[in-house]
Amino acid sequence: MDLTYTEEEEDFRARLRGWLAGVLPALPPKPAPDDWPGRRAYDAGWQRALHDAGYAGVHWDASPTLRLIFLEETERAGAPYVGANFVGLLHAGPTIAAEGTPQQRERWLPPILRGDEIWCQGFSEPDAGSDLASLRTRAVRDGDAYVVTGSKIWTSHAEVADWCELLVRTDPQAPRHRGISWLAMPMDAPGVTVRPLRTLAGSAEFAEMFLDEVRVPVANRVGAENDGWRVTMVTLSFERGTAFVGEVVACRRVLAELAHRARRSGRWDDPVLRRRLGRLSAEFAALWRLTQWNVSEAQGAGGVPGVGGSVFKLRYSQARQELYEAAAQVLGAQALVLDEPWVADRLSSLSYTIAAGTSQIQQNIVAERILGLPKGG
Ligand SMILES: Cc1cc2nc3c(=O)[nH]c(=O)nc-3n(C[C@H](O)[C@H](O)[C@H](O)COP(=O)(O)OP(=O)(O)OC[C@H]3O[C@@H](n4cnc5c(N)ncnc54)[C@H](O)[C@@H]3O)c2cc1C
Repeated sequence: MDLTYTEEEEDFRARLRGWLAGVLPALPPKPAPDDWPGRRAYDAGWQRALHDAGYAGVHWDASPTLRLIFLEETERAGAPYVGANFVGLLHAGPTIAAEGTPQQRERWLPPILRGDEIWCQGFSEPDAGSDLASLRTRAVRDGDAYVVTGSKIWTSHAEVADWCELLVRTDPQAPRHRGISWLAMPMDAPGVTVRPLRTLAGSAEFAEMFLDEVRVPVANRVGAENDGWRVTMVTLSFERGTAFVGEVVACRRVLAELAHRARRSGRWDDPVLRRRLGRLSAEFAALWRLTQWNVSEAQGAGGVPGVGGSVFKLRYSQARQELYEAAAQVLGAQALVLDEPWVADRLSSLSYTIAAGTSQIQQNIVAERILGLPKGG
């Protein structure tokens, strides 16, 4: 893999850097962490600005190198990340692009790119997390609609979403992986109830979702009926393989800030802390290289990331937790104050080894699908 930049790529970087320098000072102030309507408006507004400047599709159709340059430059300039657009831009949209019909792509992709419509993910259920294929939310065909009844949990951004990528059971008699379908459900349909759940840091970033005879048009099914498990694997490969890429750049910035603060506060004299930060720096440099490799592999495989995403997700989620543990060491007693920088991030880092498939599940995937070890009991 060639990691040097061409003249054209450096031009792209310079143009983007110039645009960011002009546009970022005019951004409105960031809304409070728990002001979800405000956060939606802020994130959608930023997506709209990217769209109008011709950068909205970078995550989808630019070359891997341009994507990575985009992430490096937006992070370096302190630009907002995808925020509430996470599901739409980073896994529902790419799934529809890969698996949807031309009409579905036409209907759903442009509003995601413009920041007009926000998506959430309705996969997990109270008894179907790691064992997702045991999901029970039922969809019964009635004319040109499915009537959907059941409940979902941990649905991030459900409160502000317009659409939900929803997994339902369309054939309860079939073996469990073969009776599932992937639907796009409008969140304002009658029968959808969203009940927010509060995290450790006090934010209601996800919710329970109750579905009571919700009518979803059959035309909103992506992929064939009962072929939803295969479509789900496409969604998860985007979610694990490429969706966290931008965050690696952010972690490298946090690491530099930690070193700076440690120097100012005198903690830099502690050799254990210096060794810890040094090891993390090497770790994130390696993760960035792995990211470059994964993104370019995905491009070579028609755009859908492979199982290497599990290796990345496994290591990245643990490294992120170690990063914020180091932050606590730098902060000392201030690490107990929620408003201090990095403290809320430290709390939320705990969720990284659970969300998008737990570390144990990623280890199972690596063991079985990469190392060829026998399936666990
Ligand atoms: C911040 C956050 C955001 C989320 N957002 C969404 C979202 O938007 N949409 C959505 O659908 N879901 C979302 N989730 C849910 C997430 O996908 C699940 O929490 C995750 O898949 C684990 O499922 P579970 O919580 O039911 O745990 P369980 O599956 O009950 O697992 C409990 C424990 O058992 C272990 N375990 C289970 N099976 C095995 C096995 N076969 N081998 C070894 N160990 C095993 C697990 O690793 C874990 O430690 C989110 C979760 C978090 C934390």
